[in-house]
Parts: sequence; C-alpha cells; structure tokens
Amino acid sequence: MDLKQVVDNNLAKTNLGKVANYIPALGKVDPKQLGIAVYDLNKDNITNAGNADVRFAIESISKVIVFLYVAKQLGLSNVTKHVGARQTGFPFNSILNMEIEKAHYPLNPFINAGAIEVTSLIQPYNGKSPFDQIIQFAREICHDPQISLNSEIFESEDRTGDTDRSLAYYLKANNMMHADVTASLTTYFKQCSMMVTAISLANLGAVLANNGIKPWDNKRLVPTEVATYTKSLMTTTGLYNESGTYSSIIGVPTKSGVGGGLMSAAPNRFGIGIFSPPLDNAGNSVAGLSALEEISNELKIDIFQY
Ligand code: GLU
Repeated sequence: MDLKQVVDNNLAKTNLGKVANYIPALGKVDPKQLGIAVYDLNKDNITNAGNADVRFAIESISKVIVFLYVAKQLGLSNVTKHVGARQTGFPFNSILNMEIEKAHYPLNPFINAGAIEVTSLIQPYNGKSPFDQIIQFAREICHDPQISLNSEIFESEDRTGDTDRSLAYYLKANNMMHADVTASLTTYFKQCSMMVTAISLANLGAVLANNGIKPWDNKRLVPTEVATYTKSLMTTTGLYNESGTYSSIIGVPTKSGVGGGLMSAAPNRFGIGIFSPPLDNAGNSVAGLSALEEISNELKIDIFQY
C-alpha cells in the first residue's frame, strides 16, 4: 500500500485538532506533521512515510509497555488483582469514576489511575530503578535503542501533574496503592516522557500482533496470554472515551497518547505506528485516526469484519 499517498490524503486534517498543551512542553510541537510506519509480519518488512522518524513523547502508549512488562514479571493474574479491564465512560484522568463506582481498584490500566497503579507495582530489580527497567524494556519491545527520556517534558509533567497526584493519593488513601506515591508518580511522568517514533510504535504493534514474539529475531518477549489480554484492552479502552466509536469504524486494537501517537496491532498481520500531534476532544490524534481508518480499509484488517 502507498503510505505516502495516505499521508498526502490526511495531512490537511491536522487543522481539525489541537495539540495538547495542558502539559506545557507538549504544546511546543509543530502541529503540521503526519508520520506512518507499517510492519508487515508476512513479508517481515517495515515501510514508512511522512514524519515517521520524528521523535515525540510516547505519553499514554507507555501504559501498554508498562502493563506488558509488569504482567511479564509478576504474571498476569497478579496484575489483574490490582487493576480491572473495563471502560469507564469518563475522561482518562477522572477521579470521579472511582468515587462513583466505589471500586476497589482502578477500572483499567489505560486510564491514568490504573497506569499509575501498575507502575507502582515495579520494584527495584538487579540494581535497576523501576524507570531504568521500563526504558530498557521499551527499547527492546520497540526495537529502538535510541529511546531516551526528554527531561524538559518530564519536568513539565512533574510541575503541572497535580491531577495525577490527586489520583495517586486517592488510590493510597483508599488502600489501593501500597507503594511510595511520590516515587511512583516520578516513574509515571518519566515513562510518559520517553521519546519514540512512528517506526518504534510499529515495532511495538508488531510484537503484539505476533502474539508476544519479536518478529525481527523470533524471540518471545511476553507470553501469548498477556499479548491477547492487552489487545482486548486496546480494543475496548485504547482510545479513551471514543474507543467504541473507533472499534466500530476501524476495528483494529489501538492505543493513543496525547503526544499524538497511535499504536495498532492487527492480529497476525501488521504492527502500525502513527504520529500526528493535533488531538480531538477525547485526546486522540485526528489526522492519525483518519489515516488509520484508510489503512484499515485498504489492508482489510478490521478484526470484526475479516
Ligand atoms: N502524561 C499524560 C498525563 O498523565 C498522559 C496522558 C495521555 O497520553 O493520555 O496526563
């Protein structure tokens, strides 16, 4: 498929969204960008177009990486004791949903409360801090040794992250989090500030699409059941409050981040990474989702249709 054509068809849609600026450092990004990378599992190759090698903040897509890492280290059943698997119907940083539900754990790992909880489960290991373990695993699963921490974005998140602080203290006050709150938040803000490209995300999607095996060296990185569970979660909760909308029109397990990234896993066929910063009201890349819809139609990868 001609990815350059997909970029040309969708670049103008960058005018329809707004770059996230509630984290001030994210607001400095050039909005007029669209990059796409597709890892084809059957051909074992990766193609890309547009701004596919531009680095940007991974933000919420880190929630997938950290979930995979923790489930791999502790076992899936030990993670699902601490975090649920259902959609909330509330924005990703809502505290209200936990109050209303009187939940005993955050409803899923892709809302901020759930992600902070999952991050808090990582213990120092072999002399490595939780964040060192996360970035090492991110480099491996994204097949991208250049992934690094953007300190400006991290400091900006840390300075302005009071909603996330409220969520973490709410979890602690209600006996849902037993780790050190400050340290867990620092790790969470750092994981969101890792710099990736659309190509790194296509590689991550390819591991998920390939049921936990890295297609570039055929080595298993996460158990099949963890990859399967994660793709299900991406289908039902990966695109914030619009997850149902896009499951019905795109039908490919996808996770977005407010840095403008999208990462998709089309089971047994493709990993897809997209970058385009302007977001819709829910926090998803506007031009990115439009491009993904076109790709899904062209490659016939809607899991509900094919
Ligand atoms: N660092 C962002 C936050 O905590 C991540 C949000 C996102 O990408 O959904 O608000």
